[in-house]
Amino acid sequence: MTGTFGAGPLPATADVVVIGGGVVGCAIARELTRFELSVLLIERAPDVATGTSKANSGILHAGFDADPGTWKAKLNVRGARLYADLAEGLGIPRKATGSLVVAKDAGQMDTVADLRQRGRDNGVPGLEIWNRDRLLAHEPNVSPEVAGALWAPSGAIVCPFLATVGFAENAIRNGARIVTECAVTGIDVVGGAITAVCTTRGRVATRFVVNAAGLHSGAVARLAGDDSFTIRPRRGEYILFDRSVGQLVNTVLFPTPDKVSKGILVAPTVHGNVFIGPDAVDIDDPDDRETTAGGLAGIVAGARRIVPALPLGTAITEFAGLRAAAGKDFVIGPSPVTRGLVHAAGIQSPGLTSAPAIGEAMVEVLAEAGLKLRPRAGFVPVNPAKPRFHDLDRPAQAALVAADPLYGRVICRCETITEAEIVAAILSPCGARTVDGVKRRVRAGAGRCQGGFCGPRVTAILARELGIPVTAVRKDSADSWLFLPRADIGAAEGIHA
Ligand SMILES: Cc1cc2nc3c(=O)[nH]c(=O)nc-3n(C[C@H](O)[C@H](O)[C@H](O)COP(=O)(O)OP(=O)(O)OC[C@H]3O[C@@H](n4cnc5c(N)ncnc54)[C@H](O)[C@@H]3O)c2cc1C
Repeated sequence: MTGTFGAGPLPATADVVVIGGGVVGCAIARELTRFELSVLLIERAPDVATGTSKANSGILHAGFDADPGTWKAKLNVRGARLYADLAEGLGIPRKATGSLVVAKDAGQMDTVADLRQRGRDNGVPGLEIWNRDRLLAHEPNVSPEVAGALWAPSGAIVCPFLATVGFAENAIRNGARIVTECAVTGIDVVGGAITAVCTTRGRVATRFVVNAAGLHSGAVARLAGDDSFTIRPRRGEYILFDRSVGQLVNTVLFPTPDKVSKGILVAPTVHGNVFIGPDAVDIDDPDDRETTAGGLAGIVAGARRIVPALPLGTAITEFAGLRAAAGKDFVIGPSPVTRGLVHAAGIQSPGLTSAPAIGEAMVEVLAEAGLKLRPRAGFVPVNPAKPRFHDLDRPAQAALVAADPLYGRVICRCETITEAEIVAAILSPCGARTVDGVKRRVRAGAGRCQGGFCGPRVTAILARELGIPVTAVRKDSADSWLFLPRADIGAAEGIHA
């Protein structure tokens, strides 16, 4: 029982419609495929993981930040545990690095002690206070001007793109339909209950809608007459360093947090890079992911307070992500206004960590809202493993090349990504449809040259495998064409072709 993925037609009906193909919507869809249900996920972009789920810190938080009893506290701790069991089977790269909250002085050590107590109240395992010497022994590049730290061994890092794709692919393998390039434009409500979802690809009759539309979840709620919450975008900017910086840090290093955010961190990625960021700035436009000179200068200054010798010359890209802030806690539960509408909204940090636990919680919320749940025989909890050429030793690489010569063609030289991996990323059940979709799945273009070398070759492979003209290949969003007709080139550049 396999589902579908792509910009295809909508079914006439679905038992549940999930709006939003971020990590939250995809984890919810996967959880729902455990039951005898027709599950439809609608995403307005050409791919999953194009919203907040593509631009975050990639940290599986241990769970000491949120106030005990909140959704954030419960779902964070449960989510971090679930990833430990799920990640490998779903093809989600995860490293158990642990995390440290660094205190600069005695006052901050008091805050760190409070965090440890809060973490214990939330059920976070193994929290310890480290003195300065122990911290510097573990992290020699940290400023010697520190007082100590909170060590959380259950903190970890994951690839946020592959988390989203992993949940989505598994949902599809278990029968979910994911329709992309399909924006929800209306929700029909009759007698206070949902009857249908209206989209740019037509109408689908349903009684249950999960609102997992991230930054647009407030707008989606209002389509169903529910204005019980609003979303305020809060931007966070980052700088990413090349893998050549090596082991600058061994674990995730947070400063002692303030009231607004966890502060500017210095952290490794699962792929061997190091990043600094994010800041936290309230903005108005939910689609404004611009980086700013002031923001980047601020994160450099903030990160230097933890690691003074930053390798700024190895920076390979800057980017920004937007938190969907709705208040202090996640908005999880039934709409107070419209029957059949349930929210997984306002999912700011630790939403990536919490996603699989949000999936579980939403099943309960839907059951309480009246959705009949009968377990389905044959749920397959894992995705087939995909070889990562770069990570293998020479004999294993040679064996792959012998089995498939496309493993012998390196397309992305910075990250050593082969044509076979790119083809597999396009042809898999949740396959890449854009150049950035390939990058998110296999890292072609994620290295030092940022696609300058491999971009045209990835474009040609996409065109060949999708059976479309090369001029129809897009970078990421629905209208991000890589090639313009001649007349449009003239118009765009203010010249006459
Ligand atoms: C700077 C920053 C750092 C973070 N760091 C971490 C971290 O380290 N660890 C952690 O656990 N969490 C972190 N988070 C939080 C985490 O990234 C989010 O909680 C999570 O990605 C939210 O996922 P989502 O699926 O709710 O939203 P999104 O990923 O934004 O997905 C929502 C989707 O809905 C779609 N959509 C919207 N409107 C419509 C419509 N009308 N029709 C169809 N589709 C629609 C959008 O296109 C989008 O794809 C961070 C967030 C930010 C911004």
